[in-house]
Amino acid sequence: MNEGRVAVLLPLPLAGPYAYGLPAAVNLMPGAFVRVPLGKRIETGVVWSSAGVDKIDAARLRPVLATLDVSPLPEIVMRFVDWVAAYTLAPPGAVLKMAMSVPTAVEKPPPLSPLCYRCVQDRMPERLTPARRRVLVAAIQTPGQRATDLARAAGTSPAVVRSLVESGLLEAIPLPSSVPVRPDPDHARPLLSPVQGAAAAELVAAVQADRFSVTLLEGVTGSGKTEVYFEAVAEALRRDRQVLVLLPEIVLTAQWLERFAARFGLPPALWHSNMTQAARREVWRAVAHGEAQVVVGARSALFLPYPALGLIVVDEEHEPAFKQEDGVIYQGRDMAVVRGRLGDHAVILASATPSLETQFNVAAKRYGRVRVTARHGVATLPAIAAIDMRRMPPERGAWGRSWLAPPLVHAIQETLAAGEQVMVFLNRRGYAPLTVCRLCGFRFRCPHCTAWLVEHRHSGLLRCHHCGHGVDPPRACPHCGGGGPFAVCGPGVERIAEEVADRFPTARLAVMTSDTLEGPTAAAALVGQMETGALDMLVGTQMMAKGHHFPRLTLVGVVDADLGLAGGDLRAAERTFQLLSQVAGRAGRAERPGRVLVQTYDPAHPVMAALLSGDAEAFYERESMQRQESGMPPFGRLAALIVSGLDAAEVENVAADLARHGPHGVGIAVLGPVPAPLALLRDRHRHRLLLKTSRGIPVQPLLRAWLGKVTWPRSVRVQVDVDPYSFL
Ligand code: ADP
Ligand code: ZN
Repeated sequence: MNEGRVAVLLPLPLAGPYAYGLPAAVNLMPGAFVRVPLGKRIETGVVWSSAGVDKIDAARLRPVLATLDVSPLPEIVMRFVDWVAAYTLAPPGAVLKMAMSVPTAVEKPPPLSPLCYRCVQDRMPERLTPARRRVLVAAIQTPGQRATDLARAAGTSPAVVRSLVESGLLEAIPLPSSVPVRPDPDHARPLLSPVQGAAAAELVAAVQADRFSVTLLEGVTGSGKTEVYFEAVAEALRRDRQVLVLLPEIVLTAQWLERFAARFGLPPALWHSNMTQAARREVWRAVAHGEAQVVVGARSALFLPYPALGLIVVDEEHEPAFKQEDGVIYQGRDMAVVRGRLGDHAVILASATPSLETQFNVAAKRYGRVRVTARHGVATLPAIAAIDMRRMPPERGAWGRSWLAPPLVHAIQETLAAGEQVMVFLNRRGYAPLTVCRLCGFRFRCPHCTAWLVEHRHSGLLRCHHCGHGVDPPRACPHCGGGGPFAVCGPGVERIAEEVADRFPTARLAVMTSDTLEGPTAAAALVGQMETGALDMLVGTQMMAKGHHFPRLTLVGVVDADLGLAGGDLRAAERTFQLLSQVAGRAGRAERPGRVLVQTYDPAHPVMAALLSGDAEAFYERESMQRQESGMPPFGRLAALIVSGLDAAEVENVAADLARHGPHGVGIAVLGPVPAPLALLRDRHRHRLLLKTSRGIPVQPLLRAWLGKVTWPRSVRVQVDVDPYSFL
């Protein structure tokens, strides 16, 4: 490092770190958090490697103003930021911003230690409201809880806790914060089956080896993958290392947290974007100081400042939700592997239906694999049958059109009569995907996007699923002026729920979609009701399909299994297979055997054939061969450029200019430009180009050279998507 100067990376989309001056005798280590001037503002940044910082005249350097009192960013995290930036072509500062996602965690001094509460007397006063009594009972049972935890335990609000303090029944004491509570690796070890035990032993050995490795944990749904990888988590804890577990959906965490707490004695730290700023701040600091030993969260948890990470688990590794599609565009599963390589520790990818990418890496011996081939205990895999909709179409009911074919209706009847639970799956939100004027045929579309407006009865709006635009249901057709009622075409989950409610009026039914639930707590409540048997039926989208373990659920009905196969997406067949396998895997997870009925117009389609026969291997082989023949990932590489702007002509010009300067050579092809399938999104016109190379040719140098040759006005945005998953 040059005397008297340091490089500082700011969490902003700048080309790289900037140089700042330091008073003599002050020495700052890389990773230190500092306050520096930028223009007229003062920003918080991180002392970075000085490579690439221009040699500004020392006299003109602006000074570092202050250093902040927080653990420095670990060196591995800095390398990770640089690596992700180089791979995704994002500005390093944009990646650093993800690692500093809670600015207050580094900027402000820690708050006064929070308070917890204890009961002043051991005896209950006589006259109390039920809520106040529940709070006191909770405080006596577990002294030293915080107001929010107490309130939650008592099913009331923190205001009740405060009122008890005011009336002298509770007293506030400082929370003993310096004692880190640690999950106990030996709290309640399960008795693993021999197959589970063998798989767990391999994963434990991978953690013990204390060097980089990736292992695929492949096991059918209900085989106990979680219990198996918990053993690896326990081993990392025994070795005093931190553990990160990535889950694809926040709704999955409720059940997961309970299982973790049962196994390790207390819950792990939680990380996702729906948390309050205060909670995120606390977790960020606890991770940075090594107090949070296990973090479970969404992909963004990868960028937390772990000083001692020793294991990453990516659960449901095949899930497309691990891909971040805006801001820094990255694939969380792949970056987890990169983080593992930089940190030189084990990575576990768990799935019942691994992605082709991961299978390819297993076949190439880059990744290891352990398998659990049967369901745990007496549970067996469900019997899966197709309902051929051409031969057995739904009958019209008293309520009009119907979407459930007679065999499914019959099976639901039987299941409910036996006192068991049913899940009906349709991966389409809302009531109806299309609304049409009966007089002129006008279709209601989003004014800002290339998309039809979807009717939502729950919220009473027509909604665009791409930009969120919502309008009240129209009284008149904007085209011909004719009045309603308008024709609603096709079903969404809400419409299926309506039919189910009409057919089975006494069944206790809930709808589970991201629209009908206000956040993770509401989802957790529904999950709880399914577990206790307070519900008979769930109707829902993919949100309901994953991970959950409902012992009384014995019938799964898939309304439209062909839905995901339309459209030419590279991974359409693979994803449909994975999703349907997941949904099917919810049935019969305990003593009572399950069955799955799949409504399809094409039972001979390879996806349906694989699902019905259970022969996943044949399906994957066929998919793999097709990808190989067309040079598609994982056998070739892809990177997309998305050009967008408010002015269609301008966008088209930039796209054409990019096409003219595209890279060429053996094993390199540029496809497009073409208008994107979502040609208009949030009022921006969009064109796409696709760079395709053979596997041996990395795309980043080509992309850098390419983008360097073309300039475009500020009004146009060019996004780079390396390893694209969405082609919209
Ligand atoms: P998967 O994730 O493979 O679909 P889970 O990990 O959800 O399967 O396991 C299914 C159910 O079986 C869970 O309720 C889990 O607690 C239970 N289970 C699995 N293995 C064991 C075991 N060895 N001992 C007790 N319960 C187990
Ligand atoms: Zn829209």
